[in-house]
Amino acid sequence: MTEKAKPVELDVAYVDGVKLTGPWNRMFEPRVITDYDLNPLEAITQIPGAESLGYCYQCGKCTAVCPIDTVGDYSPRKIFRRTQLGIDLMDSPDLWLCTTCANCLRVCPKEVNMIQIMPAVREQAVAKGNAPQELLTAFENTARYGNPLGEPPRRRADWVKAAGVPVPILAQHKAPVDVLWWVECYPSYHPRGKDASVALARILHHLGVDFGILGVEEKCAGDSQRMAGETGLFEVLAEHNIKVLSKYQFNTLMVTDPHAFNAFLHHYPKLGGSWPTVHYTQFLAARVEAMEFTRAIRKRVTFHDPCYLGRHNGEYDAPRRLLQAIPGLELVEMGRCRENSYCCGGGGGGMWMDGFAAQHLNMRLSERRVLEALEYGAEVLAVSCPYEVSRFEDAVKSTGNAGRLAVLDIAELLAQSLGLIPEQV
Ligand code: SF4
Ligand code: SF4
Repeated sequence: MTEKAKPVELDVAYVDGVKLTGPWNRMFEPRVITDYDLNPLEAITQIPGAESLGYCYQCGKCTAVCPIDTVGDYSPRKIFRRTQLGIDLMDSPDLWLCTTCANCLRVCPKEVNMIQIMPAVREQAVAKGNAPQELLTAFENTARYGNPLGEPPRRRADWVKAAGVPVPILAQHKAPVDVLWWVECYPSYHPRGKDASVALARILHHLGVDFGILGVEEKCAGDSQRMAGETGLFEVLAEHNIKVLSKYQFNTLMVTDPHAFNAFLHHYPKLGGSWPTVHYTQFLAARVEAMEFTRAIRKRVTFHDPCYLGRHNGEYDAPRRLLQAIPGLELVEMGRCRENSYCCGGGGGGMWMDGFAAQHLNMRLSERRVLEALEYGAEVLAVSCPYEVSRFEDAVKSTGNAGRLAVLDIAELLAQSLGLIPEQV
């Protein structure tokens, strides 16, 4: 509530011995400019990790770059304001829509940090059982089966049968390897993820890489579960994975999934697990000269930067180096690319909350991104995160564009051009 300010003029005033008269003394009486109940905001900013929500000074820079605001009504600025007006973030859909893409943090002058705020507040909501059911199911699956899809652990390495090249499983291999390939869940179980794994296995073989995988011993790295509020589950997974990795001798940990990559770079070391870690695009980009391409791919291709490879970990060039090495391929950039890339909607637990997001947004983020790729005339949307192939393929269909845009992992495009898999585009 705002009260009208009352100007007060003193006839004469002395300031540091200087005599001031008339309008120079015009002052405003102290006035009440708000009677907001600050308790809801303080309840959030008192949570360790969520303090920075209180730093917001409403400049609005974040709203311009938040991918969710493009398809809804959302941003840290709006979350702050709603909380200031008394809405309990714990009970609000706002708590679950953020994909932790980090674009707001990139531009925020006050360093309001959603990457810390979201997991901190969500952790408390999850402890109260106050989270979307889809997310709770993914947590339960991960806890029970070691993967969010709820697939049997014993089938984690079944995709290897389709590889057609040796893919050593370290428990049976019984020898050190140069590269331990961290395959992760979607590349192990999802049909389109398995396609990319087969392609990558054949590329590694083509390059003569000495590698192995963990197979059934590997469990989800847990980074998205951590960002979605399940810190305890993340720690249990990390403890298991660190123990397993510590049994084997290898020089490099090569990771398919940018979320797992993020966990290995920043969070496993705090729990005692630290290895030289690269994303598969970085590993391959360093060896692109050794690739013997035999087929041109004469297509207009655009690349979607994964939030956890790009903004979170600063790698924008390796995927592009690989795409530009493919003969005939024309790489076109979308307007929102690199540091300002859009988000597929899968990060921060969004992968498991599509139904929830559909209830609160005008359009899925993956659908908006697919339309953007088409606006730039792309025939292929290239990806390098296992969440994205299925999300974007679904979005191509749900936006009525089936057959107009192929969605392919960079490993699939490379393998196709190397003559290692049948032509897909
Ligand atoms: S950019 Fe930062 S300070 Fe500005 S409105 Fe957004 S959260 Fe607040
Ligand atoms: S992290 Fe991304 S999705 Fe979340 S509020 Fe910031 S810009 Fe929006």
